Amino acid sequence: MKAAVLTGLEKMEIIDIPRPGIINDNDVLLKVEVIGVCGSDVHYYLTGRIGSQVVKYPYRVGHECSATVEQVGKSVKSVKPGDEVAVEPAVSCHNCPQCKMGRENTCSKLKFLGTPGPSADRQLDGCLCEYIVMPEDCCFPTKARITLEQAALCEPFTIGVYTIKQSHLTAGNKIAILGSGPIGLSCLVAAKVQGAGAIYATDKLDYRADVAKKAGATWAGNSDKEDIVKAIMKYEPLGLDIVCECAGQQETLDQAVGLLRPGGVLMLVGIPREDRVSFPIDQLRRKEITIINVRRQNRSTEHAIDLVAGGKAKIDFMVTHRFNLEQAKTAFDLVADYRDGVVKAMINISSP
Ligand SMILES: [Zn+2]
Ligand SMILES: [Zn+2]
Repeated sequence: MKAAVLTGLEKMEIIDIPRPGIINDNDVLLKVEVIGVCGSDVHYYLTGRIGSQVVKYPYRVGHECSATVEQVGKSVKSVKPGDEVAVEPAVSCHNCPQCKMGRENTCSKLKFLGTPGPSADRQLDGCLCEYIVMPEDCCFPTKARITLEQAALCEPFTIGVYTIKQSHLTAGNKIAILGSGPIGLSCLVAAKVQGAGAIYATDKLDYRADVAKKAGATWAGNSDKEDIVKAIMKYEPLGLDIVCECAGQQETLDQAVGLLRPGGVLMLVGIPREDRVSFPIDQLRRKEITIINVRRQNRSTEHAIDLVAGGKAKIDFMVTHRFNLEQAKTAFDLVADYRDGVVKAMINISSP
């Protein structure tokens, strides 16, 4: 089968490798259909690492995909050949104390599709190829209620759904989304579905602020061009109920603390590049702000699929570019450079 692999910094090649096969009884052989290019994939492409997770070349990234079931292991019951599925990239053990607490997203033996692990046995090759094998519980049948492209988009969207769930947003709550990339936009869509009263969105790129506005933000602004705390407080002098920090920057963390009302909730979604960040403790304490960290998502995939299938959540607008597997490097370069108004680039395996 064909696969796109990282072979060095900013290097990607299409190679021929053997198709994987079923080993465990709960394995599902999947024909990959549509893959979303994620910021973290591009980060590995550009720098070869995220924190302590370092790529050993050649390496295959990719963790957002939809697929068609090709073959199933002996014990598989929930899917059959021909079924279209959204793929959950996190493979948890279901046996450790974290899993038993229902916290599969912080499983102590977690493996993640297309993410270098701390050791070889904790590493899974990604989905930038024609076939992958995943355990049954990572395959969520869409019953053709959503398209294969939407099914691939469900992976980032699920993080928005989970973030809003964890924030305990109630109808009428006022919220800000700092950073309007695909994850920020996913939070925006999920907040809208949940009945947010006002949504303020920011980004350093004008075109992304525009996309947020079109996606339903009450107000959107460029944090490089104006003091966004001042600008938003003009409309909301009492402060906001919830802020989703989706940029992973020190300045957005500071903005978040400035924007929240006393008793407000700060959702940490973005991934900072630095090992440490800081908070203005005086404000944080006086406002009695609750900080909630978001580690990917937990048990929210089915809900995300239902929201898209039922027409409540509109996510198609995020897709700005489409490529085939041969063009994977072009797609990565485009996302890396924030060129041509790109929000989400998708790779369709079967397109010529
Ligand atoms: Zn991703
Ligand atoms: Zn576990």
